[in-house]
Amino acid sequence: MDNIQAIRGTKDILPSEVIYWQYLEKTVGEILAKANYQEIRTPIFEQTSLFERGIGEATDVVGKEMYTFTDRGERSITLRPEGTAGVVRSYIQHKLFASGGVERLWYGGAMFRYERPQAGRQRQFHQIGLELLGSKAARADVEVIAVACDILKTLGLKNLSLQLNSVGSKEDRQTYRQALVDYLTPYKDDLDSDSQDRLSRNPLRILDSKDQKTQEIAKNAPNILDYLGDDSRNHFEKVCSLLNDLNISYQLNPRLVRGLDYYTHTAFEIQSSDLGAQATVCGGGRYDGLVSQLGGLETPAIGWAMGIERLILLLEQLQPLKPQNPDIYFVSRGEKAENQALIIAQELRHTGFKVELDLTGSNFAKQFKRGDRSGAKICLVLGDSEVEQKVIQVKDLKTSEQKTVSQKELIKLLSN
Ligand code: ATP
Ligand code: MG
Repeated sequence: MDNIQAIRGTKDILPSEVIYWQYLEKTVGEILAKANYQEIRTPIFEQTSLFERGIGEATDVVGKEMYTFTDRGERSITLRPEGTAGVVRSYIQHKLFASGGVERLWYGGAMFRYERPQAGRQRQFHQIGLELLGSKAARADVEVIAVACDILKTLGLKNLSLQLNSVGSKEDRQTYRQALVDYLTPYKDDLDSDSQDRLSRNPLRILDSKDQKTQEIAKNAPNILDYLGDDSRNHFEKVCSLLNDLNISYQLNPRLVRGLDYYTHTAFEIQSSDLGAQATVCGGGRYDGLVSQLGGLETPAIGWAMGIERLILLLEQLQPLKPQNPDIYFVSRGEKAENQALIIAQELRHTGFKVELDLTGSNFAKQFKRGDRSGAKICLVLGDSEVEQKVIQVKDLKTSEQKTVSQKELIKLLSN
């Protein structure tokens, strides 16, 4: 019988890799706390309609990538493909807006999209994201971008570029959309087949097609920044000038439109040149229409999400992180000694030591070998004669120095 394997597009995160995750989570958590973002945890599955209404049916995510099933109560359920829709649903449901001010939230966890798995692209993947709800100020856009930059900088990541665009208001986009369709229609037959489909459904997405011929055509497409109304342009200029004030460098990228429907005004991505094809580590933007679209009050908002797997790929290139070794490796042999070792190990742990107990019952030589390999500094040795004399042997694994001490004195001795 074949062994059961993890499902295609999912990955076990083994202990040697978990260290990177823990380091990342700790670092990110600290930076988010400094800017006073509060963590929120929403369910992994939601009503399918939340994503249909929130993300938009013409998007790839909703159209092709969702894990949707009918549960035993005949409800249509979807595993969340992203975090914002759930957070906004929760914000509305629990009236988090009632405080009247700005709500700063962050989340982390697994997301699910039915995509073609490859390096940096999985079917179950993980994101950390934040949402700032209740402010339409350009300062809000810049705050969330600055927090993202702080995170990546603190993690030590290099070779990143911040790509920035504005997709304007809904009205600006209507005008632009028409101009774009007018420009692209004569080239229709030369576009890749996905883009041909999008020409009527979601033409802006054609701009970030990965197809080379489509890209050539898109190069000369009208620039969305030329279609912004006065308010949109003012907002965007403010964002740019505040980023300059904070010494955050960026590249204007008029072809950056982002995959989800709900974006308005500022859209941005942070890309790494060390990742190959899946280069985007952080994507975000303003989504002033989403809260009302999901039944809440008109609420401006902006947020971003980072792909943790891609960040981990970068961290692994930077520096090897190793699991922490135990302080003490405890070998024992003979029933009485083994039982007593269990008790002493527990006392040592309560005192603060990290202790690994050898449970194999094999001969001392074999246990010592494992002790050497464990990376511990100290090996404790307990046999029947030690139990009788109420002593224990303490071996320094670096110098191989060994001494016999009374069990009573042990903790005092180790603590020095
Ligand atoms: P892409 O263009 O790479 O598909 P996207 O625009 O679909 O990205 P978002 O929905 O903005 O991505 O998600 C934010 C971030 O989450 C991405 O920048 C990426 O780092 C990560 N991400 C998205 N989809 C996946 C996936 N299938 N596997 C791993 N990470 C992902
Ligand atoms: Mg995608």
